[in-house]
Amino acid sequence: MKTVTRSTCCYCGVGCGVLVETEHGRITGIAGDPDHPANFGRLCTKGRTLPLTASSTTGRALRPEMRVTRDEPRQATDWASALDHVADRLAAIIERDGPDAVALYISGQLLTEDYYVFNKLAKGLIRTNNIDTNSRLCMSSAVTAYKKALGADGPPTCYEDLELAQTVLFAGSNMPYAHPVLFRRLEDAKAKNPDIKWIVVDPRRTDAAALADLHLAIEPGTDVALFNGMLHHLIWEGALDRAFIAAHTADFDAVKALVRDYPPHVAAKICGIDERDLMQAADWFAASPATLSLYCMGLNQSSHGTDKNLALINLHLATAQIGKPGAGPFSLTGQPNAMGGREVGGMATMLAAHREIGNAEHRAEIEALWGVSALSDRPGLPAVEMFDAMASGKIKAIWIACTNPVHSMPDIARVRQALAKAEFVVVQEAFAQTDTVPYADVLLPAASWGEKAGTVTNSERRISRVRAAVEPPGEARPDWWIANEVALKLEQRFRRAAQDSATTRTLFPFASPQDVFDEHRLLTIGRDLDIGALSYATLEQQGPTQWPMPAGAHEGTARRYTDGTFATADGRARFLATPYLPVAEPTDARYPFHLLTGRLRDQWHGMSRTGRADALFAHTPEATLVMRPGDATRRGLEEGQLVTVTSRRGKLVLPLQTSDDVAPGTVFAAMHWSGQYLSSGGINEATIGAVDPYSAQPELKHAAVRIEQA
Ligand code: SF4
Repeated sequence: MKTVTRSTCCYCGVGCGVLVETEHGRITGIAGDPDHPANFGRLCTKGRTLPLTASSTTGRALRPEMRVTRDEPRQATDWASALDHVADRLAAIIERDGPDAVALYISGQLLTEDYYVFNKLAKGLIRTNNIDTNSRLCMSSAVTAYKKALGADGPPTCYEDLELAQTVLFAGSNMPYAHPVLFRRLEDAKAKNPDIKWIVVDPRRTDAAALADLHLAIEPGTDVALFNGMLHHLIWEGALDRAFIAAHTADFDAVKALVRDYPPHVAAKICGIDERDLMQAADWFAASPATLSLYCMGLNQSSHGTDKNLALINLHLATAQIGKPGAGPFSLTGQPNAMGGREVGGMATMLAAHREIGNAEHRAEIEALWGVSALSDRPGLPAVEMFDAMASGKIKAIWIACTNPVHSMPDIARVRQALAKAEFVVVQEAFAQTDTVPYADVLLPAASWGEKAGTVTNSERRISRVRAAVEPPGEARPDWWIANEVALKLEQRFRRAAQDSATTRTLFPFASPQDVFDEHRLLTIGRDLDIGALSYATLEQQGPTQWPMPAGAHEGTARRYTDGTFATADGRARFLATPYLPVAEPTDARYPFHLLTGRLRDQWHGMSRTGRADALFAHTPEATLVMRPGDATRRGLEEGQLVTVTSRRGKLVLPLQTSDDVAPGTVFAAMHWSGQYLSSGGINEATIGAVDPYSAQPELKHAAVRIEQA
């Protein structure tokens, strides 16, 4: 008999609702959920092919495996032995070297409940803040900028604004590939009203750029100069909303003084664009009744990502394009649950419910809520620093869950070196053949999408239920359960070591994801993301809901700051002065090309899942290096020829593809392929580990490379 289960797509931050059809314990079909307010029944190619990538044991991690020494291969074992071994090794390392010798590296693809247990295990039990996530590679610059400018994390906008915006600025976002269902909503709006203006800021002519009214093909990394130049022009033209600036913001004068150095002709020259185009973009931005900026990794994955976000938010504040329908800065979340991870504080730089590690009051609140004392006030290590600390021997043990850093981190050679040096590596994974699995001393088989339950939060702060439609294959288990079991065993060992026989209460009393959600909910009360009125039952009754939704509220909150009061101490948004700084690694005679990286339409991250469906290779069958035809001719290179891409850190070989979509002196490679699919490795062999000074997000989007015949 066929069964239909309501759930959420596991890929991007759009968070589309899906109806999963199952028969005889297998996922046999999928449809978009017509009642889900993110997609209203639509799905993109990745979502539509979910049944092709699920319900199979092929390539899955099916049993726990472990090895006692590095000289031996891992052997299959039972859960009890694997969990005991993990707890024993972690306890011994903590006893010998202290809690900060252990690190957890988790994922924006975990469910909120998974994330919560991992975070409590690290911060509440082990007492280390060394827990970070691949969301560091994704959204941390957007988070940092929201907090600095608006006082709190999270976008002020909602998906309904896609239909209400009259001017849309895309900055570093190829939405047709990265957020396809939302892009369809924009296309529908523009089809109904062709007067809607689209401005696309992107060094490449992406699919979005090809459809734009104005494409600003800036030099890589010059976004801040562009936004400063636009603001200069608007000040000169008297096109600002002075009343809004006076009533609702602070520190405008510092920004006004800074942007004096960016008259349009100067800014346009830095950006390599026409001055008139810069001014046109500024005029449309300010004059529109509602301007929405949609931005993603092109701004965030930068050594100046926070400044790029802030310079754009400055434009919104100066023109009052915020807090009203159709307007605002809207960071599009890359992963399905980067937002949920932040909500539970599952990163090295924050505590649960948007609290700060460095804030003694916030630590005391969490201590009281968890019933613990002396949470660590030592800052945790964000992703790049975490692997560096492992390479230098400071971190001895790492537990990696639901992510593949040997594919996704910049400068992979450094990551491999770090994992080889670590004393103890745990990998918790649904798939048996990722690039990271060979480094595992213990492999813990995890349930995947369709096999476990919980919640995720999408780009518009909307919490949706994820439901299990089938049983996990083999002995795979939900991530929250695995973390909880290790936590219980570790708790016992700590008590034994402390000779504490009196304490009976456990920090991990969870028997289900719902138990975890209920505790998470309590921690949010009184915070900016308060979901005191939400429960699994409410989500069941009223469907996916946007935070905040405090006790007493009957529905979630579509837009924030609608009354002009921001989440800062004085209620005023902050202008932040953002001088333009170049990319971390400029091109030079030895490395003359700008390497840009990005997504393809039909693949997801490291292809663990999408690589299993042949249909998803129809759009782009293989990894390539895209180069301008003139650049190829000058180097005697031809379409299809194998070329070596070399940076100061590493190299890889790719077939050459020529296209006018990239600018002269620029090459592009997709992020998806890695050593699992390409013997010469993925593009992160070449990328650089330089990070933003505020967000610690690495500059995955740009490196200097040379290209030669292979
Ligand atoms: Fe899934 Fe994103 Fe496609 Fe929606 S747009 S179906 S969430 S991949």
